Amino acid sequence: MMHLAFLVLLCLPVCSAYPLSGAAKQEDSNSDLAQQYLENYYNLKTDVKQFRRKESNLIVKKIQQMQKFLGLAATGKLDSDTLEVMRKPRCGVPDVGHFHTFPGIPKWRKTHLTYRIVNYTLDLPRDAVDSAIEKAVKVWEEVTPLTFSRLYEGEADIMISFAVKEHGDFYSFDGSGHSLAHAYPPGPGLYGDIHFDDDENWTEDASGTNLFLVAAHELGHSLGLFHSANTEALMYPLYNSFTELTRFRLSQDDVNGIQSLYGPPPASTEEPLVPTKSVPSGSRTPAKCDPALSFDAISTLRGEYLFFKDRYFWRRSHWNSEPEFHLISTFWPSLPSYLDAAYEVNSRDTVFIFKGNEFWAIRGNEVQAGYPRGIHTLGFPPTIRKIDAAVSDKEKKKTYFFVEDKYWRFDENSQSMEQGFPRLIADDFPGVEPKVDAVLQAFGFFYFFSGSSQFEFDPNARMVTRILKSNSWLHC
Ligand SMILES: [Zn+2]
Ligand SMILES: [Zn+2]
Repeated sequence: MMHLAFLVLLCLPVCSAYPLSGAAKQEDSNSDLAQQYLENYYNLKTDVKQFRRKESNLIVKKIQQMQKFLGLAATGKLDSDTLEVMRKPRCGVPDVGHFHTFPGIPKWRKTHLTYRIVNYTLDLPRDAVDSAIEKAVKVWEEVTPLTFSRLYEGEADIMISFAVKEHGDFYSFDGSGHSLAHAYPPGPGLYGDIHFDDDENWTEDASGTNLFLVAAHELGHSLGLFHSANTEALMYPLYNSFTELTRFRLSQDDVNGIQSLYGPPPASTEEPLVPTKSVPSGSRTPAKCDPALSFDAISTLRGEYLFFKDRYFWRRSHWNSEPEFHLISTFWPSLPSYLDAAYEVNSRDTVFIFKGNEFWAIRGNEVQAGYPRGIHTLGFPPTIRKIDAAVSDKEKKKTYFFVEDKYWRFDENSQSMEQGFPRLIADDFPGVEPKVDAVLQAFGFFYFFSGSSQFEFDPNARMVTRILKSNSWLHC
């Protein structure tokens, strides 16, 4: 009954736009499309019940609301531009009215979140899905204090799945096109979860529906963002296939939105005592010549040096005097930020990266399959939750792990932790201040980094030969 009344009323602007048109069927399908669209995304049903007597006005208003939101001329008529936009692929989350009303602003009350990829589409290899999701997670991680880790079983905050048509919630998918995916705002259970419509053709590039772009958008919802009317924003509801994927950046609108919920990412852990020109106030990017600069971890990689700090690293090669500065995620999207330790085992052409009780193995710019692994698989006692620093002695094939004031030694030949450890750092590396941030082996010395100081240690003489600034390697 209501449906019929709606069609008649809706026909008015359509009929006036196409006078005496014989294509009545076309009009019907346009009206159906518009009704469905306004019901799905502009909360029409509820309003019709409430304002039954003012339906025609209401529908014009709803059309105008939709036109304004999506950046069209607000004519209130179902003109061809409006119908065209209604046919475009888009996010399944409403633009007006929410999936569920939540008291207050929905946001996570914690900063560390977990996600799990519950199943896979057949459109893409599994690792392509994994890396699209990881990349999408990084988009938000970079502009907030939020950190994410991936679970492989059990209940994660954000459960990610592919489904078609009716799939167990009240929001069925609709086959190819139209609604591409939807996600729920923060909360327990179903909340925070992301569903992708597997009737789309998911792709790594822009030839089909790009999984990374849609995942990054949906994650915005999982974190508490609603749609933005800013056409530049990732949170704009229509799928924008023109975005240059290689240079993807969040718009200021997205950054403002998410930071209004969670704030900016934490500032560099050690603020410079004296502000310098190289550290603009409010900057969150570490500056290489900041006199207070410390490092999270340092490693060699195929003859180069990598200095890790927060979400970034400097890469210094022998032939390029000026160090390069990159986001960790640019090279290794699945690696965490704020690392604890890193070292290279030349004989295996592998760099091992540590954070918390897990470690990763990388070769060049590839993270190896089967990681992260638990640090206890290396032979640490269960009481050890993280390590501070590590270095692998290339000649002796021994790897040193530093934890607070002690160190362990791992034999790379036998692949086992050596007996008689841990030992005190002070006993075997006299002059080195414990609580080591990072260690590097070069020119026959060990360089121990502790805060903004660096101890050059001669292992043969068993003594500290020089104390340097930590950033002396970065040409400061
Ligand atoms: Zn959306
Ligand atoms: Zn769903």
